[in-house]
Amino acid sequence: MREKTWRQTHVKVEVSALNFYTFAVTHRVLSPVAMPFTHRSAAADVRAMVGGEAAEPLRVAVLGSTGSIGTSTLDVIAACPARFSPYLLAAHRSTRLLLEQARACRPRWVVVVDPAAAAEIGVGALPEGTRLAVGPEALDDLVQSPEVDRVVSAIVGAAGLRSTWAALEAGKIVALANKETLVMAGPLAMRLAERTGGRIVPVDSEHSAIHQALRTGSADEVTRIVLTASGGPFRTRSSESLVHVTPEEALKHPTWSMGPKITIDSATMMNKALELIEARWLFGLPAAKLAVLVHPQSIVHSMVEFVDGSVIAQLSPPDMRLPIQYALSYPERIDGPTRRFDFTQAMTLEFSPPDPARFPAVRLGHEAATRGGTAGAVLNAANEEAVRGFLDGAIRFTDIAEVCARVLEEHPFQPDPSLDDVRRLDGWARQEVVKWACV
Ligand code: NAD
Ligand code: MG
Repeated sequence: MREKTWRQTHVKVEVSALNFYTFAVTHRVLSPVAMPFTHRSAAADVRAMVGGEAAEPLRVAVLGSTGSIGTSTLDVIAACPARFSPYLLAAHRSTRLLLEQARACRPRWVVVVDPAAAAEIGVGALPEGTRLAVGPEALDDLVQSPEVDRVVSAIVGAAGLRSTWAALEAGKIVALANKETLVMAGPLAMRLAERTGGRIVPVDSEHSAIHQALRTGSADEVTRIVLTASGGPFRTRSSESLVHVTPEEALKHPTWSMGPKITIDSATMMNKALELIEARWLFGLPAAKLAVLVHPQSIVHSMVEFVDGSVIAQLSPPDMRLPIQYALSYPERIDGPTRRFDFTQAMTLEFSPPDPARFPAVRLGHEAATRGGTAGAVLNAANEEAVRGFLDGAIRFTDIAEVCARVLEEHPFQPDPSLDDVRRLDGWARQEVVKWACV
């Protein structure tokens, strides 16, 4: 069953590509796990890989283009114009940056999800050849367009589920940064992809590392997956002092530059909790086979242990452009803008287990990954609301994990929820946090 799930994630044979696939495997260009799976041009991709004609650039929809992942995605696209071209840029309400991006890269579409923000866009603000669409429905429609070859899902939070769902519904290949999709609705999203032929290639650096390491073995040879964590800015702080942490302190991450929500999640280590749940569904492994290890340098991005005791890790400087590029170019590896190591310099790599007393969020992630059902959606919603409360000064840093634990424990658990159940419990969990904060 486990092997089936994993292979369903990674190995899909397009009928039109079968001949080229057979050729490529026979000639040792591709292993079955690393076979290409593009809808538009699986065959052309293989021809390009074996030295034939060059494939057309893949048309990429960047959802959340004004954010940290979105801007890094545009860097990758700009660095690889023969491989990728921007088709659509979407953002919530940061129209100034969105228009700047549109002028720089000339996509076919820009989408502003918030109608009020869109109304402020002046006539003539868009470059020639770029059209404006407004609202979430327009985004769903455009993401499903046959002209979109790859979707980068980089909207932050639960808001990203909707457009990711639309992309998978249309059988798209999704480079998934929005971990909340799998945290909230992992089994539903994986089943949807299976039904439509959609694919998820992870962008989250840990899951990208695992995806890469898994290519060295088969699913039934995997004994453990170890997600690494930087430990955030408070890795060495005493538990007593954590109660006084301010938003300014928590927003300073030692190794990664990211959007504010995930930066706070890294400080509480709730990010690792969400990533455990993400890994649970993405790789189809039981929660008992998932572990977390603190690694402050953020060089080893995660590891897979195989049955013979070998541990395969993926290393690179901390730069999200690499996992983004990998997700866009998979199954190929191509040159790109990512920083390289300087091996003439000494380098130290440290590892230690996380401290459950100071970072109780990690346990919540294990719990939600073990329970499945509605646990992930409730933990995610409670955390989003708690982070908002912390940034607004309504609750303390240490309250985040505390309120999340309480809401998770008290929620009316459902083992096999529908998408409507997930949305309803998302709303319920948010209200519970607000009530708790007001007491
Ligand atoms: P960010 O806050 O920097 O950017 C968020 C983007 O989402 C912006 O473009 C914003 O306009 C858009 N957005 C917000 N609400 C929206 C809505 N309702 N509708 C449409 N668009 C909306 O966030 P980020 O750090 O880039 O993270 C994006 C996602 O990637 C998150 O799910 C995060 O967990 C995940 N991720 C980020 C990193 C990282 O290094 N930043 C690493 C791994 C995973
Ligand atoms: Mg990550």
